[in-house]
Amino acid sequence: MLRLVARSLIFVLLTLATQIGGLAYLAALGLARLLRVRHQALRLGLFLLCYGAASISAMLAVPSLGRVPLPCFAGNQQALAAQSPLYCVLNRNYVTPELREAAQALAEHVDTEFPGTTTLALDGGFPFLDGFPLLPHLSHGNGLALDVAYYYEDAESRFRNGVTRSPIGYFAFEQPAASDVHPCLAQQNGLSLRWDFDALQPLFPNYRLERQRTGAALRWLATAGVTRFGVRSVFIEPHLKQSLGVNSSHIRFQGCRAARHDDHLHIQLGRSGGV
Ligand SMILES: [Zn+2]
Repeated sequence: MLRLVARSLIFVLLTLATQIGGLAYLAALGLARLLRVRHQALRLGLFLLCYGAASISAMLAVPSLGRVPLPCFAGNQQALAAQSPLYCVLNRNYVTPELREAAQALAEHVDTEFPGTTTLALDGGFPFLDGFPLLPHLSHGNGLALDVAYYYEDAESRFRNGVTRSPIGYFAFEQPAASDVHPCLAQQNGLSLRWDFDALQPLFPNYRLERQRTGAALRWLATAGVTRFGVRSVFIEPHLKQSLGVNSSHIRFQGCRAARHDDHLHIQLGRSGGV
């Protein structure tokens, strides 16, 4: 009984984290029984084999289903990359072809303005099924949403290419000054995904937002991103929108019940790919 509960839990967790991991786990369990594999290390190997095969199959199958993977690594001709290969390993790097095109055009624009700049993608979506939740996000269920890391510089104002303050690109917040807009001060109670992670903040390196590249990315998203690539909205905290001087109704606040967006940008495409 305990084993069944543990296996169910593992199945659910793998499914929530990677979508296809739960099925790969069931396949590995079946194979282990069939082949009479009892050693834990061999069972783990069997799971990794099944998971790898499922991930490669997903990558090959999804283009016909309207999703494509974002690049996992930067290269000579590639200014867009996953912030960590882990996003690819976990199958969280899938978006629609239109959104991949938009993200690549954004990365190329920033790289043209500031040569040698890599734009880092965070969570995109899972490979299969519209509406399948990509936790802990409220959206990201249909391939039309992509999170992008901010650009950073060190304490000596040197741009740090391909580097984020947080090891996963999330949760290292740019704190608003006391004089900045604080739209959620009165609404901090109740159920909300607006986590502050105050205890984590001192652990992150002392990098600062690189404002030129971040501003250029936002301006491109609000102009060419909207008109040529169908960007519907970009989520950002009001204090950053104000300090970066980007005035566009497409660059907006996500509200107080959703995650903060002063650690990353959220790009949302319209359903039709149009504005
Ligand atoms: Zn997002």
